Amino acid sequence: MRNEFDVMIIGAGAAGLAAARRLVRENLRIVLIDARDRIGGRIHTVHAPGFPMPIDLGAEFVHGKPPQTWQLIRAGHLLTYEIAEHHWHFVDGRLQAADDFWERIDKILGKMDEKGPEQTFTAFLKTCCPEADGTTRDMAIAFIEGFNAARADRISTTALAFEQKAADEIDETSQYRIVGGYAPMIEWMENALSGAVDVRLNTRVRELKWKKGELVSVCETASGGGALPPIRASRAIVTLPLPALQKEQVKFLPALSEKRDAARKLEMGPIVKLLINFREAFWEREKIPNAKGQKLPPLTFMHSTSAAVPTWWTQLPIKTTVLTGWAGGPKADALSHRKPEEVLSKGLDSLAEITGFSRSEIESLVQGYHIADWQADPYSGGAYSYVPINAGDARKALAAPVEDTLFFAGEATHFEGQSGTVAGALATGTRAAEELINSL
Ligand SMILES: Cc1cc2nc3c(=O)[nH]c(=O)nc-3n(C[C@H](O)[C@H](O)[C@H](O)COP(=O)(O)OP(=O)(O)OC[C@H]3O[C@@H](n4cnc5c(N)ncnc54)[C@H](O)[C@@H]3O)c2cc1C
Repeated sequence: MRNEFDVMIIGAGAAGLAAARRLVRENLRIVLIDARDRIGGRIHTVHAPGFPMPIDLGAEFVHGKPPQTWQLIRAGHLLTYEIAEHHWHFVDGRLQAADDFWERIDKILGKMDEKGPEQTFTAFLKTCCPEADGTTRDMAIAFIEGFNAARADRISTTALAFEQKAADEIDETSQYRIVGGYAPMIEWMENALSGAVDVRLNTRVRELKWKKGELVSVCETASGGGALPPIRASRAIVTLPLPALQKEQVKFLPALSEKRDAARKLEMGPIVKLLINFREAFWEREKIPNAKGQKLPPLTFMHSTSAAVPTWWTQLPIKTTVLTGWAGGPKADALSHRKPEEVLSKGLDSLAEITGFSRSEIESLVQGYHIADWQADPYSGGAYSYVPINAGDARKALAAPVEDTLFFAGEATHFEGQSGTVAGALATGTRAAEELINSL
């Protein structure tokens, strides 16, 4: 087996695949290494038993029109559909249609300023909006913690405002799904690389010895920990998730203390995703107990601030019997590293609390479920990164190349406002590949 390459890419998620895609045009010998037995990283579409359709355990939505993602969708002739937005809100024991969901939240979020002062969302909320009622404030906290997988008392509002501006530029108010989940995009990228890139799966990098223009990686099989022959290259693109850099899970020799320090200024946010397939879409019934026994308009998203699993969504406009439960930030911490039955139980309690149907009735309708606890996954250690207060330019520091030899990509290195997304990860892979090409 050949073990000498021009470029070694560590991590075959969206960033690593995008880097490989850009580099194959340069006629370089490339190896793409991943500890998992699959490509895609935090993109993971599965055909789970008891489900009528493929389900995304990680990334699911295309947020707006980011050019990196849409260029791939077009090139791969992938089918997409726009998501209908019908929000229901559970407050004071009542479930109601909340078509003003975004309007209410935007009134608060729109007051954050990227120029400062530097403060947490909790501190900002204390003074920003005296006119906002308690419910709207609770909704805003739940949104910040859920969507950003962050703690409101840690996340920086200057960083949030900066990211909000980037989101507006790609029209993040519209959301899309790819038919069949994100897998078709990943598979298309893999097929386009076939023959041009040596892909090594089940290969965990433990150590990366490097000097300018020369690298040797010490690897072992991820399944059994057995040593693998070292892989050599002149340059590397490192797309490791944030916790791997924070905890130095890959040992750089000599050490890259500035990378570790930058990584430790950022935080990895937790998410637990719970997908349940029911025998019947009970939320479409004529009488919803918590809606005063009436039928509500079609449901896309259901929000609660009190439930253990506070956010749920359907697959609308596609009608299915599947609900996806989502807990981010502190609510995800409370559900993480638990037995699947316990998480399911919390999810069913939450659905009973929100809708008013009895817990036993909802439970009797369960046909299949699947839980994705990304904190328990050793190769991601969480869902996606966020910027706490006083992190300065940590994302930029994390992204900076070292000695024209080591280049860095991955969602946490996106410093233009799209971290924590597939689009952001793709963009960093292309950026790192171009930095590498410019160094040749
Ligand atoms: C639950 C969840 C929901 C999300 N929802 C959305 C969404 O709807 N829309 C959206 O745009 N984004 C979403 N995201 C974010 C998106 O999935 C990520 O931002 C993106 O996939 C990250 O890609 P990446 O290449 O940076 O990292 P990864 O995909 O994590 O790739 C890094 C790779 O490095 C590998 N690796 C780790 N350690 C080693 C080692 N020692 N040796 C070798 N390989 C190693 C890992 O196995 C992994 O494959 C979601 C994420 C999660 C977790």
